[in-house]
Amino acid sequence: MRDTTYVPRDRHSRYPLERRADPYSGSLPFLASSGAEGESLQMEDHSISMEKIVSLCKRRGFVFQSSEIYGGQNGAWDYGPLGIELKNNIQKAWWKEMTQLHDSIVGLDAAILMHPRVWEASGHVANFSDPLVDCKDCKSRFRADDDTQISPENVAARKCPKCGGPLTEPRSFNLMFKTTIGPAEDSSSVIYLRPETAQGIYVNYKNIAQSNRLKIPFGIAQVGKAFRNEIVTKNFIFRTCEFEQMEMQFFVKPGEDEKFFEYWREQRMSYYPKYGIRKEKLRWHHHEKLAHYAKDAYDIEFEFPMGFQELEGIHNRTDFDLTQHTKYSGKDLQYIDQDNGNERYIPYIIETSAGLTRNVLMFLCDSYEEEKVADKGNDDDWRTVLRFHPLIAPVTVAILPLMKKDGLAELAQDIRNELKEDFMTDYDQSGAIGKRYRRQDEIGTPFCVTVDYDSKEDNTVTLRFRDSMEQIRVPRSELAARIRAEIKNYKRV
Ligand code: ATP
Repeated sequence: MRDTTYVPRDRHSRYPLERRADPYSGSLPFLASSGAEGESLQMEDHSISMEKIVSLCKRRGFVFQSSEIYGGQNGAWDYGPLGIELKNNIQKAWWKEMTQLHDSIVGLDAAILMHPRVWEASGHVANFSDPLVDCKDCKSRFRADDDTQISPENVAARKCPKCGGPLTEPRSFNLMFKTTIGPAEDSSSVIYLRPETAQGIYVNYKNIAQSNRLKIPFGIAQVGKAFRNEIVTKNFIFRTCEFEQMEMQFFVKPGEDEKFFEYWREQRMSYYPKYGIRKEKLRWHHHEKLAHYAKDAYDIEFEFPMGFQELEGIHNRTDFDLTQHTKYSGKDLQYIDQDNGNERYIPYIIETSAGLTRNVLMFLCDSYEEEKVADKGNDDDWRTVLRFHPLIAPVTVAILPLMKKDGLAELAQDIRNELKEDFMTDYDQSGAIGKRYRRQDEIGTPFCVTVDYDSKEDNTVTLRFRDSMEQIRVPRSELAARIRAEIKNYKRV
């Protein structure tokens, strides 16, 4: 790779300079390659696949297999330096949407370990199970109610879809992780790792309403870990035994539930495109078979590389949860409507329940692109780019001195120190500038700032945009404000 992706400032132009095309983008759109090498490159598959996402995640430090040096732990993944920034940003965006932009929603962080009666009341001890079948020959295991794993015909015929061998009868398998608390390991010390965050909200609803003088309708938002002993964990971080959820439970007066159910459906579907997710990759799935607690339920599905799959559920849970907790705890969980003659009722609950770690996978998949940016018949013709929204990208600005020498590195460090007060930054001084841009494209950094010899003279830098690869010259004094404005006005191409 040569240094040609860097466009030095036009010495004759005034600030701010107009945008200029990156040399790589100059010959777009590309026609069929003529050379033999080009032809072989054309045969390469540049579409997205889960293998490519997994490999990029490992290579660049987004996600690693848990306990990898011991052969890995099934159903668990570790988030590396870029992964944790990405996950935090997704969580921050959701939290802002829920609590900052909705006046009637407050936050909570409940403990993972809860009184075991909670899970009896919620129905998890009795009902939170999947039907499991095993192949007696090849020992494969399937969830009998999941037709992506095994067809209903195979279940009925007790025939293994992999080897044709005989299957066991379906048996119920509870998904909750059970452990014990305290020194004695008997039935009185049984405790569960929570399989969802929602119950922590229900059991705190009265505390929160009273201490914050909340009036119905109001909501409680929570983000946290959940654990499920999933029978089949597959597709990377899509389905894991340890994961994170972002849940918001909205408490409403009975009779107003259908109105708020529609409101939250609309809110949640319009949320994702705000952060750059392409609308055509999202769709609704209406549940025909409802869970024991639900009056109505929709999933927002996203088109992952393996097809459309659930991303978030929106459920009308009626008064089921609070009625159950009233019964099991013996505490009165009715809401007293002081504005309405002290009318008492058990609120209905509209739930929006999204997987945070599943959101991470969605943002990775939706932003991944292999883009043809030149036609020279070599590896540099293509770039891998993650088109993250700037508020989601793990790194917002990378600062790149054109050379290490002649004081450019020091100047670039100085600019970084200034910018890092406002943005997550990265600094890279090694290798050709074009390679460095590509490294940043691959992790989705929306802005690169290049410091060159002119910068020393006139205090200007080059600002390079990830998506268009355009470059403009900006006075250093205006850099932070310019980046802020670009983030605010960002539109996915
Ligand atoms: P599924 O049918 O996929 O098992 P679910 O309907 O049981 O999911 P919910 O209980 O409604 O899921 O959980 C809400 C959200 O939590 C899901 O939409 C998903 O994003 C996330 N989620 C659920 N289970 C897992 C898991 N094992 N790993 C990662 N995320 C999960």
